[in-house]
Amino acid sequence: MQPLDKLPLDLAWGSDGHVTDVVLTAMADGEEAIVPEDALGHVEACEHCTFRLGSEALLSVQMDQEMAVLEAPAPAKAIVPARKAPKVAIGVAIAVAGIGAAPAFILDVAPRAREFFKTIIWAASMLAQSAIVVSRSDLFAALVWASALVLVLAGLLLSRAVKVSKHSLQEGGV
Ligand SMILES: [Zn+2]
Repeated sequence: MQPLDKLPLDLAWGSDGHVTDVVLTAMADGEEAIVPEDALGHVEACEHCTFRLGSEALLSVQMDQEMAVLEAPAPAKAIVPARKAPKVAIGVAIAVAGIGAAPAFILDVAPRAREFFKTIIWAASMLAQSAIVVSRSDLFAALVWASALVLVLAGLLLSRAVKVSKHSLQEGGV
C-alpha cells in the first residue's frame, strides 16, 4: 500500500514502463519526498528517465528565471539607467541655448529679455514633460536628443530674433 504523502502509483508510472513527467517535475523541483521509492530508484537506474530528468531540471531552472524576471519590477529596471540621459541632454540643450542667447542678453537686456527667459523656461519644462512621457518608449534616446535639438534651435532662433528686432529698432530710431 502507498503512503498518503507519496504520489499514487498510477500518477508515478507511465504505460511505457518509465516514470511519468509528474515524477520528473517533482524531482526537478526538489520534491523527491513525494516520489515513491521505486520510482526514484528507476530514474537513477534508467538512462532514458535520467535524460528526461535533466531536461525537466533545465526547464525548471528556466521557468524560475522567467518567473523572477516577471516578478521583478520591470519598469524601474528600464527607467533608472535611462533617467540619467534626459538630465544630460536637457542640461546640454539649455547650456547651448544659453550660450547662443548670451550675446543678445548682453546687447539687449531690455523688455524682450524677460519674455525670452520665460520662453526658455517654458521650452525646458515642455522638454522635461515630454522626456518623462516618452521615457518608456524604445525611441526614448532618439526622442530626447531630438527634443534637445529642437530646444537648441529654438534658443538660437530666439537669440537671432532678439538681435534682429534690436537692429530694426535701431534702424527705426535713426
Ligand atoms: Zn525509465
